[in-house]
Amino acid sequence: MAIISSNIDNNDQSLRKKDLRLVDSKIIPEDKSNNNLNFARPGTLQEFIGQEQLKSSLRIAIDASTYRKEPLEHTLLYGQPGLGKTTLAFLIANEMNTKCRIATAPAIERPRDIVGLLLSLKEGEVLFIDEIHRLNKLTEELLYSAMEDFRLDLTVGANRGARCRTINLPRFTLIGATTKLASISAPLRDRFGMSQKIEFYTPDELKQIIVNFSRLINLNLNDDASYNLARISRGTPRLALRLLRRVRDYAQVVKKTNVVSVNVIRAALNSYQIDEKGLDAFDRKYLSFLNNNNNNATGLDSIAAGLGDNSSMLESVVEPYLIQIGFLTRTPRGRLLTALGKKYIESKNDNF
Ligand code: ADP
Repeated sequence: MAIISSNIDNNDQSLRKKDLRLVDSKIIPEDKSNNNLNFARPGTLQEFIGQEQLKSSLRIAIDASTYRKEPLEHTLLYGQPGLGKTTLAFLIANEMNTKCRIATAPAIERPRDIVGLLLSLKEGEVLFIDEIHRLNKLTEELLYSAMEDFRLDLTVGANRGARCRTINLPRFTLIGATTKLASISAPLRDRFGMSQKIEFYTPDELKQIIVNFSRLINLNLNDDASYNLARISRGTPRLALRLLRRVRDYAQVVKKTNVVSVNVIRAALNSYQIDEKGLDAFDRKYLSFLNNNNNNATGLDSIAAGLGDNSSMLESVVEPYLIQIGFLTRTPRGRLLTALGKKYIESKNDNF
């Protein structure tokens, strides 16, 4: 698997470092570090590339709220990791001229965590909760009245001394982000005034994102090179930027240049075992496993057991792109390689 490690030739060991897959759209520590491209998050809707439908709905909603001097309606953003949900939350706060406070649902464990967060908000501010489908029941129930009536209904004391206390909250906007819309309970979902899907990006849109960022870091990519990188970025800006960083490393260290051609991109990606389709060694291992199964539909759990991996990671991270490029289908009986997928994997000579 291509990983961010100097030991890129050691297939088997690196395959076990699942969290470090270069083409995994989930966030990895490097994406958060200061020495990366996140400083250049787009700050306005205009600078945000792609998602035209979503941007035009947001533009109207933001302008209407600003006109009425009201906070924006609670908004639910859903889509795969790395497509820009966090970026949009910051950007909405920026457009509304207010602050964005950020939290992830698994970190909000006790009722007092969410109470503390809500009490720290000021009028009009944005509260962003990532992975909102992972909120626990108690926290979720406290959010209902907070979202609907800007009010917290708390029970203080215990047993016969227990009484209800109501605290009024400032009007705020909750932006919830999720990769699993179906896992959000109906009562929570109904309390969002807007629900917006973030789609995968086209290669042209990703190319634009790559061009913008490469300018910021003084990397000189020609048109073909940026399009080439965009094409294999799985429709995901986070991956496009991560691959761009790897290409930059390779160009500067191996080729001693800031000028990046298609050939430099190929050589760089090759050194990370990423091929012309944007697939890495783990994707090929997955396809090989199915191919060795003689065209029989194979259940996800059997694949996970065969590959020594976790089925939810395969389902949410590995399979969507293989399906998108037409290499894999999900059937009621299990996963099946398509003719295209079979042709591709048989043309590769990775040894597993
Ligand atoms: P998510 O919250 O959906 O996982 P992020 O908002 O963290 O994704 O975005 C991942 C990276 O991609 C960030 O560095 C962000 O700046 C960049 N990005 C995402 N969408 C866009 C876009 N439409 N235009 C420019 N950059 C983007």
